[in-house]
Amino acid sequence: MKIAVIGAGLAGLTCAGQLSAHGHSVTVYEKSHSAAGRMSTRETELGGFDHGAQYFTARQPAFQRQVAAWRKSGLVDLWKARFVTLEAGVTTVAGRSSQRFVAVPGMNALGRHLAKELDVRTGQRVTRIESYHGGWLLRVSAETVAIEASAGPFDAVIVALPADQAVALLEAVPTMASQAGRARMAPCWSLLLGFEQELKLGFDGAWVKNSRLAWIAHDASKPQRRPGEHWVGHASGEWSAEHLEDDPERVKEKLLRAFHSATASDVQPVYAAVHRWRFAQAVEPLPSTCLWDPQLRIGACGDWFAAGLDGAGRIENAYLSAAALAESFAA
Ligand SMILES: Cc1cc2nc3c(=O)[nH]c(=O)nc-3n(C[C@H](O)[C@H](O)[C@H](O)COP(=O)(O)OP(=O)(O)OC[C@H]3O[C@@H](n4cnc5c(N)ncnc54)[C@H](O)[C@@H]3O)c2cc1C
Repeated sequence: MKIAVIGAGLAGLTCAGQLSAHGHSVTVYEKSHSAAGRMSTRETELGGFDHGAQYFTARQPAFQRQVAAWRKSGLVDLWKARFVTLEAGVTTVAGRSSQRFVAVPGMNALGRHLAKELDVRTGQRVTRIESYHGGWLLRVSAETVAIEASAGPFDAVIVALPADQAVALLEAVPTMASQAGRARMAPCWSLLLGFEQELKLGFDGAWVKNSRLAWIAHDASKPQRRPGEHWVGHASGEWSAEHLEDDPERVKEKLLRAFHSATASDVQPVYAAVHRWRFAQAVEPLPSTCLWDPQLRIGACGDWFAAGLDGAGRIENAYLSAAALAESFAA
């Protein structure tokens, strides 16, 4: 079958990879200039900063097997970090928990690797899905072309986007759009900081209490990163939602102040930037693995499905949801 997958994050790439392996002809449409989605790394003069997903855990056997295979291929590694909770410079060692993995040499490396095996059309934003003689046509816009193009027809379409973006594209299937509309995603402002001198904070990752920042991490402590004093901070969901439309320069100032007071350090960075994630993590997921209509041959997957785990908004959910959709397709 001829299948279109919309979105080249981990969910879209996983689903596309599994459908291709079953002999289908799959084309992936991605609005950004490269694959990986929220498993993202921003390249700067100091090196890369993982400003989206920080790490991932593997709880379900199917994902554990996949992570083991990625590790064997040298695509991911363990992040053996010192984790603490932090409040106004005071740290408490975090309890033991599951292993945490990262892609190497940056979080985006996994998506880029998976995309190499597939037909991924980057810089192509899908604006509409239209029913066409029992199949589907896509309206696609590209920055380089003034008018929208039509792609297809396809026998099936997979929507692998954050829930809010999926709702907009699923308008041709109102029942599915309304189901997707029940998932809720929270935003996140990310802070990227580079320092010339060592901060000597004594930890690599910290959950921050009573602060605008909910998390800070020493990015260069992850395996195969360029050495340096590179830190990433994530503002809390509540603070990010309240300040979503603020001027990025003001957000940067406020989050830098929060970083200084959380770490009780006043060292000034030589590099500072912020990034706004409008749809960062699913806070209210759907209690299922994916959406799939076998008659219309249209479906949706992503991290906004609980996918059998408690909680969502994680890389593991995105993977499990995509694998479940590929399986439903084959059934
Ligand atoms: C700040 C932040 C911190 C996080 N921390 C963690 C963490 O520590 N651990 C963890 O497990 N998870 C974390 N996550 C969540 C994790 O990144 C996601 O669960 C996972 O990457 C989702 O993958 P996905 O494929 O479902 O969606 P995405 O990665 O969002 O992929 C969707 C893709 O679709 C593209 N797209 C959107 N609209 C269109 C369109 N109209 N046409 C074409 N393409 C389109 C997007 O550009 C994107 O590439 C974090 C996320 C953020 C933002």
